[in-house]
Amino acid sequence: MATEVCIYCGSSRNIQQDHLRAKSKNGVTTVPACAKCNQSKGAKGLMEWFRWLKDNNSYRWNKIYLHNAFKRNLIAIKVRKIYNE
Ligand SMILES: [Zn+2]
Repeated sequence: MATEVCIYCGSSRNIQQDHLRAKSKNGVTTVPACAKCNQSKGAKGLMEWFRWLKDNNSYRWNKIYLHNAFKRNLIAIKVRKIYNE
């Protein structure tokens, strides 16, 4: 069985199911996310969270950028958009 990794940063530690759109905002789609990303994201929207990380948590932001730099999914596209802002 493949080890689940955090869709945001690639970590395989403490994987949880994150609501892509916050549960409090009626989000239903879940993705695997490590506890650190999940807690950091909280109820923020994806773009809002990425912008927040870029300004406030360069360690996590760099990890997420590197994990997504060459991917083609929706999350990676958003990461690159924020990176280039
Ligand atoms: Zn993570």
